[in-house]
Amino acid sequence: MKMAISLPPTKRAESHREKNSYHLRQRKLTVKTMATLEVHQIPCLSDNYGYLIHDPETGVTATIDTPEVAPVNAALAEKGWELTHILNTHHHFDHAGGNLELKKQWNCLIVGSRDDADRIPGIDVKVGDRDTYQFGGHEALVFDVSGHTIGHIAYYFPDAEKLFCGDALFALGCGRLFEGSPAQMWTSLQKLAALPDATGVYCAHEYTQANAAFALSVEPQNNDLQQRSREIDDLRARGLPTVPSSIGLEKATNPFLRPMSKDLQANLNLQGADLVEVFAETRRRKDSF
Ligand SMILES: [Zn+2]
Repeated sequence: MKMAISLPPTKRAESHREKNSYHLRQRKLTVKTMATLEVHQIPCLSDNYGYLIHDPETGVTATIDTPEVAPVNAALAEKGWELTHILNTHHHFDHAGGNLELKKQWNCLIVGSRDDADRIPGIDVKVGDRDTYQFGGHEALVFDVSGHTIGHIAYYFPDAEKLFCGDALFALGCGRLFEGSPAQMWTSLQKLAALPDATGVYCAHEYTQANAAFALSVEPQNNDLQQRSREIDDLRARGLPTVPSSIGLEKATNPFLRPMSKDLQANLNLQGADLVEVFAETRRRKDSF
């Protein structure tokens, strides 16, 4: 967010000293309103996204998961950042496979789920649902979002309005239920849906175009979804990422956050059904789409 403040015309002829104090006030204001957490997106493997997050105030840098070592190191070199943390979302190899090599190289601290600690290589700090973790000058709120795996967690930075959710929530999708039940996943997704609409959703895969085709198949009447689908096609045609999205956009268009939609329920022949049941049927259909 850039602050555009200009002096009113009558105040233009201020003394040098007053101007300086104005600039000081402006700088303070800028620092207070802008919680800078720089994010650098790293395409990895065939369709993964890794992320470097960097707090310029304290100099700490984390990689959200470790899908691959070389692209993470290349991104660090490009930015001139030193890796201090690994924040893992879950144990799958395309998320934690580079943990030990990066830890050996950088001597960084590995943060991961207390409930999945045995499967997070090199874990140092164990966190769980509603814990806060201090990352440099920023506080991350941890959510347990089990479903895709048991012990999957997400990191939410309220001051920077950013959510790193691994394979729990995708742009227009959600993670496949390898370990958890539909009820568990629905509970998890509701925690994320409760975040402010402006929250940036930084998920771990570029699955959006395929997800859009599925979403349109179960809720074709959704105008926001139709428009988003066209925008996605345009971005992909130009080789651009569709991630991050936002919580507000996901709530308006992602069928996995919309079991309360009357159109979706009707299209699934589940009018008035329990929301878990609608969610479960949506997930089941996606599995064989
Ligand atoms: Zn996964």
